[in-house]
Amino acid sequence: MTTLLPTTTAGSLPKPRWLAQPETLWSPWKLEGQELIAGKRDALRLAVDDQRQAGIDILGDGEQTRQHFVTTFIEHLDGVDFEKRETVRIRNRYDASVPTVIGAVSRPKSVFVDDARFLRAQTDQPIKWTLPGPMTMIDTLYDAHYRSREKLAWEFARILNEEAHELEAAGVDIIQFDEPAFNVFFEEANDWGIATLERAAEGLKAETAVHICYGYGIKANTDWKKTLGAEWRHYEQTFPRLQKSTIDIISLECQNSRVPMDLIELVRGKKVMVGAIDVAIDMIETPEQVADTLRDALRFVDPDKLYPATNCGMAPLSREVARGKLKALGAGAEIIRRELAA
Ligand code: ZN
Repeated sequence: MTTLLPTTTAGSLPKPRWLAQPETLWSPWKLEGQELIAGKRDALRLAVDDQRQAGIDILGDGEQTRQHFVTTFIEHLDGVDFEKRETVRIRNRYDASVPTVIGAVSRPKSVFVDDARFLRAQTDQPIKWTLPGPMTMIDTLYDAHYRSREKLAWEFARILNEEAHELEAAGVDIIQFDEPAFNVFFEEANDWGIATLERAAEGLKAETAVHICYGYGIKANTDWKKTLGAEWRHYEQTFPRLQKSTIDIISLECQNSRVPMDLIELVRGKKVMVGAIDVAIDMIETPEQVADTLRDALRFVDPDKLYPATNCGMAPLSREVARGKLKALGAGAEIIRRELAA
């Protein structure tokens, strides 16, 4: 990456209202068949355009081709029965009806590779693709086959690695694994979660990132955040092990968050995607507010390793708000670039 402070998003952007119900997370598609395929592609092009107009450097697909950041990937795998559902607790926070693992899991064919190729064709700028991490995947399923969270995570890591290698071959520059579960299951993350993540990233020449957040701005998450006290020190549990891991970039949330900024020191040497946009409020940050957060982060991360980003995905926001936030991110990063060049 030659641009200093390359900006990017955590992943998702709002979908156009003709494709899915706006301001609704995981809402069903409004189109079907060939119209849906064409609609997703059109939405992807608009998402790229919004990012480009805002001056975002590393472009994503805005997750326009998927309904859910975990289940859309799992839907393409064998061994999971989506008709057979059980209610489980997701990340110890809320109950959800989830599909059941009924046999050995495998990936009969590529899941996102065609979409990634399509994104690659839209731009010469670096592109990033998001995949769920193994630990977050197992937390969204009922396992009636392996009966071991760890065993299932290793299986998913193998499958994710196959997909990641194909994404790399399609021209993806950064492959990001979403692991919000690392902020909940510290012991398992250190015992085998981070090891399975490294397995998912094994042998890649593309850069690898892990996104660890406090979740989308939905009620279950904002209610949970209210119980976390004055300082959120969750990252302290996993960062020492992640610092020693093979993963290149750590993505975390910082804007309006109670995460003490000095925890970034624990991953010194890694590139850090600093969340400088709050995705849980409609208020659009000013470029100066974004710059303040980045300036603060620069006390603990070297300028050539700082990637300004959003705290998490922006799918639940209105498109207007998300566009405003993208612009603030691009402009805020530019303020700091100018300061560093002065
Ligand atoms: Zn997130």
